[in-house]
Amino acid sequence: GPSDMHADVVVLGAGPGGYTAAFRAADLGKKVILIERYPTLGGVCLNVGCIPSKALLHAAKVITDADEATAHGIVFGKAQIDLDKLRSWKESVIAKLTKGLKALAKQRKVEVVHGNGKFVTGHSIQVETAEGSKTISFEHCIIAAGSSVTRIPGFPYDDPRLIDSTGALALNDVPQRMLIIGGGIIGLEMATVYSALGSKISVVEWMDQLIPGADPDLVKPLHRRIGKRYEAIYLKTKVTKIEAAEAGLTVTFEGDKAPQPQTYDRILLAVGRRPNGREIGAEAIGIQVNERGFIPVDQQMRTNLPHIFAIGDIAGEPMLAHKATYEGKLAAEVIAGHKVAFDARTIPSVAYTDPEIAWMGLTEKEAIKQGIDYEKAVFPWAASGRAISMAREEGLTQLLLDKTTRRILGAGMTGINAGELIAETVLALEMGADMQDLSLTIHPHPTLSETVLFAAEMAEGTITDLF
Ligand code: FAD
Repeated sequence: GPSDMHADVVVLGAGPGGYTAAFRAADLGKKVILIERYPTLGGVCLNVGCIPSKALLHAAKVITDADEATAHGIVFGKAQIDLDKLRSWKESVIAKLTKGLKALAKQRKVEVVHGNGKFVTGHSIQVETAEGSKTISFEHCIIAAGSSVTRIPGFPYDDPRLIDSTGALALNDVPQRMLIIGGGIIGLEMATVYSALGSKISVVEWMDQLIPGADPDLVKPLHRRIGKRYEAIYLKTKVTKIEAAEAGLTVTFEGDKAPQPQTYDRILLAVGRRPNGREIGAEAIGIQVNERGFIPVDQQMRTNLPHIFAIGDIAGEPMLAHKATYEGKLAAEVIAGHKVAFDARTIPSVAYTDPEIAWMGLTEKEAIKQGIDYEKAVFPWAASGRAISMAREEGLTQLLLDKTTRRILGAGMTGINAGELIAETVLALEMGADMQDLSLTIHPHPTLSETVLFAAEMAEGTITDLF
């Protein structure tokens, strides 16, 4: 049919994957149209994900640090929280970034079309805009339509007290008693925020540990700390029923250690996210979508239709922003004719909880499963001068290395700023660094980054003094 607009590259979805792909394609000389159903760019990450959660976690850290300083003779008193002001500060953080993106799109002459988009043919997408329906045709398309929250069927979702991560980030109020369903990264980050703000938190997780993807040793210090602060943590337990009444939401649990039914003021459901693969008309034009809703891609991010690409959450696990941006850049470069492919050694994971947990490369479990002859070096932060002087000694830094080559295979750390510290080990893995490389690299003293050096020295048997 007739097309209202045409572009070399059409990008569907303006999250971290989509805007990165659009900007890179434009920088490589392509005419680009970026389609986004929401009024702002940035997707889940900027609007209702990574960024607002980190703004609120910053506030939580200020409260907690002030609170704990009492033990060192500095007394601030109980934090007074102006929720309206905190909320509008968080909104201003988002606005700064989404406005920045808008300007960057304009600078590059990336045309943004707002509205819901669906494929109509293998070379066109129809967008329902405020000014009516528009057909946009393309040579190449990059699908970056992301993911949505997963729901457990049968819960009373029309009750405003049952919220998802977006509802939790809205920060409408601070409930007295809050249950978090799902002990993964998103649930525990929100627990960190609401606990600092004054809510009594309970967490229920179906698996046998919090943050099920992470090494159990890394999770222990977090579990120990929040176990003291939260009302309850139920593992190997699931919620089977939520009943809404005026007094609250009454929850029925199931499992060996399941408690009696409990009533909460607020429930946050954080049991994962599902890709939006089935919501964009992809199957109708012959794009393969798997049973979970992911769109399978090859090493160059191509779907089964070679001129259509998929990136970010919709293209597979792990659903992380830094994976989406890496893939977005890659897809744009492939379209521009560069001979590039996905060959990153690892995608690091970070839980921005208190303490933080970060890991990359192989976990010990995976090394065992793959029959790799590995060695493990663990440096406890209780022997780090910097950790002690920050009164946060509960952390650890752990390196996994190949016994024969001495090369780094994986790393994990728990403690404040673990999310920043993991980057050095990611570079080490990308560069094929061995324990000598790490142990002969002079690290500044006293820093938490030294814990990587110390762990490598432990592996080498060259560690002398601690602290
Ligand atoms: P998205 O960000 O989901 O963007 C997809 C975009 O496509 C959306 O803007 C959507 O509106 C648009 N879209 C979808 N369908 C259509 C359509 N048919 N027409 C038009 N537009 C459409 N990741 C991290 O790495 N670090 C973190 O700290 C982190 N924290 C998070 C915290 C929370 C609470 C949540 C929910 C997620 C968090 N994530 C984090 C995950 C991260 O947000 C995602 O991995 C990331 O946003 C994926 O980017 P994307 O570009 O694939 O898709």
